[in-house]
This record gives sequence, C-alpha cells and structure tokens, in this order.
Amino acid sequence: MKVLVVNCGSSSIKYQLINMDGERVLAKGLIERIGMEGSVLKHTPEGKYTVDINTDVPSHAVGIKLVVQALTNKDYGVIKDMREIDAVGHRVVHGGELFSDSVLVTPDVLKGIEACAELAPLHNPPNLHGIQACMKLMPDVPQVVVFDTAFHQSMPPEAYMYGLPYELYVKYGVRRYGFHGSSHKYVAGVAAEMLGRSVNDLCLITCHLGNGASIAAVKHGKSIDTSMGYTPLDGLVMGTRSGSVDPAIIPFLMEKENMNIQQIDDYLNRRSGVLGISGLSSDFRDLESAAGRGDERSQLAIDMFAYRVKKYIGAYTAAMGGVDAIIFTAGLGENSASMRAKICEGLEYLGTAVDDVKNHIRGKAQEISTEDSKVKIFVIPTNEELVIARDTANICRRIIKL
Ligand code: ADP
Repeated sequence: MKVLVVNCGSSSIKYQLINMDGERVLAKGLIERIGMEGSVLKHTPEGKYTVDINTDVPSHAVGIKLVVQALTNKDYGVIKDMREIDAVGHRVVHGGELFSDSVLVTPDVLKGIEACAELAPLHNPPNLHGIQACMKLMPDVPQVVVFDTAFHQSMPPEAYMYGLPYELYVKYGVRRYGFHGSSHKYVAGVAAEMLGRSVNDLCLITCHLGNGASIAAVKHGKSIDTSMGYTPLDGLVMGTRSGSVDPAIIPFLMEKENMNIQQIDDYLNRRSGVLGISGLSSDFRDLESAAGRGDERSQLAIDMFAYRVKKYIGAYTAAMGGVDAIIFTAGLGENSASMRAKICEGLEYLGTAVDDVKNHIRGKAQEISTEDSKVKIFVIPTNEELVIARDTANICRRIIKL
C-alpha cells in the first residue's frame, strides 16, 4: 500500500510518499511561499538529488496538484500514475475534544475539524484546505486525518483543567490540549521496543525539543500530562515562544508598553523564548557557539531552557510515581549532546546517569545512559510522517479492507 502523507501549513505543504510494504519513503518534498511571490516546490525522490520547481502556487489546491505531478513526472517521479496512491494521511493540528484518535474523513469529520478551527485558527483552516484539495483531485482515494492533540486526550481532568472559572471550559473549551502528539506517541513506542518491554508496563517521559518544544508524561502507553496547553505557547521556553509566564505580565505589558492584543501575541510567540533572551538567535547551534565565545545571554538562554526541561522531568516523575526512561527527540533533542547532558545533570537522585561516550551521537536511536543507570535515557529520532502513514494504512485496512 502506498500512502501519501500531507502536512499543510498556512503557506506550505510538506509531503512524503511512503510504501507501507517495508515502510520505505519513495519521495518527499516541500512547497514554500504558497500564495506569495517566489513559491517553490522542492521534490526529492528517494536516493536522488532534490529538484527545485519554481512556479506560482496561488493556493493549496494548486500545490496539491503540483505534488501529484512531481510524484508522477517522467524524469523525477516515483510512480507512473496517480492511481498508485492508495490512501492519503493528513496531519491536522487540533482535534479539540472531538477526536481522540485518527479517523477516516467523512462529511462529519470535516465539520468537526472546522469546529475546532476556533482553537487553532492559524493551523486547522490550511489543514482543511489540503484535505479538500486531495478529495477533489483523488475522489476515490480514502483520506485519513491524524491529530496533533489526539494522543493527549487521555489526560485526566486534574491535568488538563486550568485554575480558571469552570464556565470558560464549558463555554469555549479552554483547557490544556497538548501538541506534538504523534511524536510523543512514536518515540514512546520505539523506547518500549528498545527496552524489550510493552509500553503498557512503562512510565516514560518524552522530550520533544525542537523549535517548538514539549514534554509528555506517558504512563502505560497513555499521555497523562504534557507541557503545551490550550495553545502551543505554554510550557517550555522555546525558540521564539515564551513558554509559561505569569499571566499578570500580559496586562502589565499592555499598560507599560502600550501594546494591543496582536502585539502581545507577536511578542510572546515570535520575539520571546531563547531568541528574546539571547537577543541573538532562536537556533541553539548559534547559541551554543556564541556561548562558547563567552556570550553571557546566550549561555543564560541555554541554562534557562535546560533548567525548565529538568523541572518538568521532576514534575512528571512525581505525577507518574516514578519513571523508567527519558527520551530525547526533535532537532535539539536528537542533535545536541551538550544540551542532553545539561538537562540530565543533577537528576542522579532519580537513578539516571548519562554515559558521556554514548551521548556523543547525533540523529540516531540509541540508549545514552550508563549500564547501571536505573532510569534509561534514549535519543530517538522522531518520525511523525511514519505515524501518520501507519495510522492511515491501519484505518484503511480495518474500515475499508484496503
Ligand atoms: P521544528 O519545531 O521547526 O520542527 P526541529 O525539530 O527541526 O524544529 O528543530 C530545529 C531546532 O533544533 C533548531 O532551531 C536548533 O535550535 C536545533 N538543532 C538542530 N540541530 C542542532 C544541533 N546540531 N545542535 C544544536 N541544536 C540543533
């Protein structure tokens, strides 16, 4: 079965065509600057060079057509005909409380995604455009949606409710939802395999540390708490996002800096985090080299990031009544040995010990704790596309016996 995985952002489309027999990526690519000047499709067939296709992409519908054209192109395509695509799996950011699992697209599901758009106004509408474009182009091909929030729907109310009047939850659904669900689920599953145990018997802390960063407490295979909240702004200090701040800072800023709601939103989402602290960059590679040259604010940003991750590890260990393994994933988690070491420094009381030699790796699945470390530590590259493709294939096999 060949599954096309589609991830539509507001001005981008990322895609992968995966052959589920052997879970092999046949091609992947990205369209950027949809609806703007200078849009480009970068298409990479497996094992070959990337082809740049510079052309106008005014909408997601045109973008999806271009993706299919690239996949079926005589020279750099990987399939002969569009009919070789057996199913399409879409990433959808927000499923609210309506979706706790991946589902086959039906008219009701489309309405549900639309209803959740209020919770993710920047993300759900382009996700929906992508689904509609694929349905139009491939009307007979089953479409499946996989939600970023779904994995965290298992959180109990004491973890997902905020200390706000209950009416806000009833009226607007104001609660913690959590994000990066596919990633947390994937790395928890791989860690269990590497431990040779069932995920249902384990307490795991999964640290997805990329530009956006979140941590989850995965108890017996289910997320019971996570650091992102009603939106992906909550929790850890991130590349450009503030993470949790005292909410009283917002009216203070509005008054002192004369900011309106849009300006506050921009400040907290795009000008804060390690970028705002360092005044230099949101990228940890830049911060690590600047700190190495003695830049104090870059060092402070790194220290703050690591400190907050460490606090969550402590909190989630308490929430689960123990922890069997800690997993690092995403850009920073997979690549930065120094950040992993810094986070784990001082966690020895839990029975964790990093093996400095094993920790010296980048982007491959490996245990990095010492032989006698009671709590195991892993680096596991995430693969959200594969989770989407697997869910899509499973649903198609189960429901429509594909
Ligand atoms: P996104 O949330 O955009 O998907 P990624 O998971 O790709 O982000 O992570 C990107 C971030 O990972 C970069 O901004 C950078 O901070 C960090 N990163 C990537 N490679 C390295 C590295 N070798 N050393 C330190 N940090 C890295």
